[in-house]
Amino acid sequence: MDTAEIRRRFLAHFEAAGHAVVPSASTLADDPNLLFVNAGMVPFKPYFLGQETPPFDRATSVQKCIRTPDIEDVGKTTRHATFFEMCGNFSFGDYFKEGAIQLAWDLITKPVADGGYALDKDRLYPSVLVGDDEAIALWMKVTGLPRERIVQLGPKENYWSMGVPGPGGPCSEILFDRGPDFGPDFDAATLGPDMPVELEDRLLEIWNLVFMQDDLSAVRSKSDFDIAGSLPKKNIDTGMGLDRVALLLQGKKNMYEIDIVHPVIARAEQLTGKTYGADRTNADDIRFSVVADHVRSAMMLIGDGVTPGNDGRGYVLRRLLRRAVRSMRLLGCEDRVLPELMPVSRDAMSPTYPNLVTDWERIAQVAFAEEDAFRKTLQTGEQVALRVVESAQVTKMVTAQDAFTMHDTYGYPIDLTLEMAAEHGLQVDQQGFIDLMAEQRDRAKADARSKKGTHGDTAVYRGIFDTHGPTEWLAYETLETESR
Ligand code: ATP
Ligand code: MG
Ligand code: MG
Ligand code: MG
Repeated sequence: MDTAEIRRRFLAHFEAAGHAVVPSASTLADDPNLLFVNAGMVPFKPYFLGQETPPFDRATSVQKCIRTPDIEDVGKTTRHATFFEMCGNFSFGDYFKEGAIQLAWDLITKPVADGGYALDKDRLYPSVLVGDDEAIALWMKVTGLPRERIVQLGPKENYWSMGVPGPGGPCSEILFDRGPDFGPDFDAATLGPDMPVELEDRLLEIWNLVFMQDDLSAVRSKSDFDIAGSLPKKNIDTGMGLDRVALLLQGKKNMYEIDIVHPVIARAEQLTGKTYGADRTNADDIRFSVVADHVRSAMMLIGDGVTPGNDGRGYVLRRLLRRAVRSMRLLGCEDRVLPELMPVSRDAMSPTYPNLVTDWERIAQVAFAEEDAFRKTLQTGEQVALRVVESAQVTKMVTAQDAFTMHDTYGYPIDLTLEMAAEHGLQVDQQGFIDLMAEQRDRAKADARSKKGTHGDTAVYRGIFDTHGPTEWLAYETLETESR
């Protein structure tokens, strides 16, 4: 089933069940606490928080999402992209737990002829928050599955909050067993409270149902919070990964091979003369996946109006474009690559997002100019990079000063230095680098240079950290932003 059809069926299923179909919002969040929309619920937040009255009790959408914190996983797991589409259904004080479970289960198990996805019931595993007996009972009632098939996971997986006082609630993640090729055997009844890492690709999470029911008075961490009482209006917020369901229904090993992503890999194979082999531990296969993922994310961001820059969203875009270009170089292609790759991604995505065609000239111009600028950076930086690697051979550590000079004088971003160092089996004195950056920032402040606008303060990043955990990559992003 192609992705377009999976998307269509999702909306049709929920529309038939009385949901208003709401088009995707931009990936650029209209929210001071977020750089990007990272879930389907984000555009509906004012309704969930009771700040605005929704014009409907039920809604459904397929929302464009960007998750920069997942960047390090791209290509290494089978299931993480920096851009993906989240299918969601939402209830604003209307149906609750039972309705949400029933609607989701119907869609994924319904025969194809009846508009469903016909996933094999014997391979589906609902998960609930440890001790959520109400949810366990409802899953058993709706699905007829025995109690042993329901996995109980801790709050890290199965409790949702915004990281601040306000609404919160237990989740139910629906998992699909992809079989022994993807991880060891397991016993659902004794799994948890943490999901073992080696099972995450096998027990693929496809859908998260959030039961917004609690009023939180304090949130200290994902698993440490105080429930003050129940919300007056209980809400449902769900997110099904479109690309993940496509992976299953198209019989692919990973998300980078689905119909709307793989054509870029195929083009990259032609350009590099190398063959992609879907091995998640093979450096080249990871690079092919990174190329396909980042080219798409970058294109979607430019389509939504982002331009490359040195902070906030612009910096994220710059990093995606540069990483894609550099991965192609490491695969052996030193020519300009974006004019070859991005049109392929456009053709895969434009049936759903026609702006990619109508706005193509601008999108292409922004992307290709950034590649040209980066090629110049690489030309000047490469010799210096080699000298840095040379001088780090004894200690196996790139000094903070070298990393800083690369960044400051040669425009060689820290992530590139980190990647390059890792390729040569070297560490980087990251703390020292952070300190030097901080010193530079303080100098800049002392100089009272006029400030450029940023896309928010550190609370922005704090929110992302709290939701997704820190990554080195984001840590530097924060640094960059703070330094301006
Ligand atoms: P995971 O544990 O696999 O990282 P998650 O729990 O972070 O997923 P949710 O925040 O629950 O994901 O998002 C809802 C759904 O969106 C997930 O069930 C999944 O199907 C999909 N999804 C989440 N992150 C990604 C991603 N990086 N790429 C593609 N799909 C994703
Ligand atoms: Mg999860
Ligand atoms: Mg989840
Ligand atoms: Mg995640």
